[in-house]
Amino acid sequence: MSDATWYLPTFDTVEEERARRKERLAAGFRVFSMLGFEEGVAGHITARDPERPDHFWVNPFGMTFAHVRASDLVLVNDRGDVVEGDGGVNLAAFAIHSAVHAARPDVVSAAHAHSVYGRAWSSLGRLLDPLTQDACAFYEDHTLFADYTGVVNDPEEGKRIAHALGDAKAVILRNHGLLTAGRSVDEAVWWFCTMERTCQAQLLAEAAGTPHLIDPAMARLTATQVGSDVAGYVSFQPLFQRIAREQPDFAD
Ligand SMILES: [Zn+2]
Repeated sequence: MSDATWYLPTFDTVEEERARRKERLAAGFRVFSMLGFEEGVAGHITARDPERPDHFWVNPFGMTFAHVRASDLVLVNDRGDVVEGDGGVNLAAFAIHSAVHAARPDVVSAAHAHSVYGRAWSSLGRLLDPLTQDACAFYEDHTLFADYTGVVNDPEEGKRIAHALGDAKAVILRNHGLLTAGRSVDEAVWWFCTMERTCQAQLLAEAAGTPHLIDPAMARLTATQVGSDVAGYVSFQPLFQRIAREQPDFAD
């Protein structure tokens, strides 16, 4: 990720910044629901607290993404305790996201869900190829965690996932699904949405024939265009607008 922050809003108080992060996070869950990424109680998006950087906000365990409001989010500390809000936290959410937030101070938000195409692609144990313009957002900027050992309830497993992510924007968890990270909730959610569809596109293309790859120099150039922090942030805004108009209670 770059150091550019000019596109991110600034705030007079930490309370305003927290409220904004929680609203975007709640909207992110509505987007995940709208796009069909929910699978039982699996999946979590987190937002680092702006005042306590070792704490993060997350969905309460067992609540459908479709109903999450900003006021439903729970704040989790670095030991996995819910210190604000009503509800529990998914053990895997804590194990994975606390490790990612700890390893990556630049990451404000991380997103993970058991979406169908991400899951299917993950089983192949391969990185995504630069088949399309959109796929180039992940060119040389995603990794593979090829060590599936069951449900991630162990903080040590979370640390290995964070290590595999490195300084990339996304990691494919083999036999599990996708995890994305961003400097804002908007980015993390967008990278997840477009990575899921990138998996879908590659699965379709390879099922139909032998796709042509974009050459490395062009893929690298395109990555600077569609894969930048600001591109991720801007790309989320149309989805946010839909939620804001169609489901305004997300901000309650
Ligand atoms: Zn999972």
